[in-house]
Amino acid sequence: MEIGEMLNEIEEKDKKINSFIVLDKKGISRRDVPNKGKLKNLLVGVKSNINVEGLITSAGSKTLENYISPYDATVVEKVKAEGGQILGMLNMDEFACGSSGETSFYGATDNPSARGHISGGSSSGSAASVAAGFVDISLGTDTGGSIRNPASHCGVVGFKPTYGVVSRYGLIDMAMSLDQIGSFARDVEKAALLLETITGYDPKDETSLKLDPEFYRFFKNLNPGLKGIKVGYADEFDRLVQDKGIKKVIHKALNRLSSAGTEIIDVSLPNLEIALPTYYLNVYVEFFSATRKYDGRRYGHRIEDACGEEVLRRILLGSYISQKEYSGKYYKKALMARSLIRKELSDALKKVDVLVGPTVPKLPHKLGTKIEDPMIMYAYDVFTVPVNLAGLPAGTVPAGKVNGIPTGLQVTGKALDDQKVLNVMYGFEQCG
Ligand code: GLN
Repeated sequence: MEIGEMLNEIEEKDKKINSFIVLDKKGISRRDVPNKGKLKNLLVGVKSNINVEGLITSAGSKTLENYISPYDATVVEKVKAEGGQILGMLNMDEFACGSSGETSFYGATDNPSARGHISGGSSSGSAASVAAGFVDISLGTDTGGSIRNPASHCGVVGFKPTYGVVSRYGLIDMAMSLDQIGSFARDVEKAALLLETITGYDPKDETSLKLDPEFYRFFKNLNPGLKGIKVGYADEFDRLVQDKGIKKVIHKALNRLSSAGTEIIDVSLPNLEIALPTYYLNVYVEFFSATRKYDGRRYGHRIEDACGEEVLRRILLGSYISQKEYSGKYYKKALMARSLIRKELSDALKKVDVLVGPTVPKLPHKLGTKIEDPMIMYAYDVFTVPVNLAGLPAGTVPAGKVNGIPTGLQVTGKALDDQKVLNVMYGFEQCG
């Protein structure tokens, strides 16, 4: 089928899912894309906070509803250079603030694998477009779980690399010390292929790491062998998981890993619970500072006039905490707690190759459910945020279903052990 025909079909089907904000029918992003390369013939979706030249890069917000990007993010340049066919810009929580995909100015995204339920967030469209089969692969971003959470809810693979492995140049920041761009696909091979395409040192991003070229060959070096791999599991996962069905699926996954020759080892993460408040304090402060440029002069609307409730909450709290900071009461404490969490994770990982556990503590709620208390929404992130606080690589791979709703196994590795994490996900996918 021609891309044009395909786009018409997607447009029709997506009326129900709402995974795309912009469908690139004019082919602006496919102009001059070579008909060769690692991503040849693969259909790609891009989260709306990653700049694609000539397309509206709105970050899911009314603030940027008319912002047509004048340039390509480094990851987009790389996708194009390898022949990836970009179909458009995907839906997301406003400025990536959310866990459900419902805070988008463009409306919520339905879950193709569990219709009528949230697809998860903030990369709601990235997960849903892959789950619906509209695209083969997609780019998402993960500040506190935004790749892994929707991957889990939609039953697809999502991977967030070690901080610094993928360039953030051209990404609209949410919280720059935590944000990373990563990949979605229906299987680990394609997720690794997209990752291999977008990684690499980028002088335009000062947090980008310069590593040996072999490090970045994630697809080429995929290896499903699980024999002798030491897998850590923390008690705290069982204590904090809210849904018994998820707990069952995860314990089955542990059995599957153990039958495939891995050694399951108990580890302890006693401060897992403080990761959530630590994360949100960090985010409020960094997000407040990142949004000061949306003052209505350069980029369309002034953010405070155009944004939704969750974004406004973060701006107000971030401003308050920043003003009070002379007393060191909140942010300084949050930074100390962040170091503690980082140390605890790195100690736990010293004994094992990877940690595995649930991605989310509860199943996706039904679309339209009113959630008044933000803490109930934030609770989705309990298992994903520690990874970002520590800058580690982690991915989610489908592990099973609870009442027909998918849930994913989260695999976390030491910094720069991205390949090992992918390999365990690959092995798990194949030993089912
Ligand atoms: N749900 C988290 C938040 O609202 C994570 C978002 C993300 O990773 N972008 O901040």
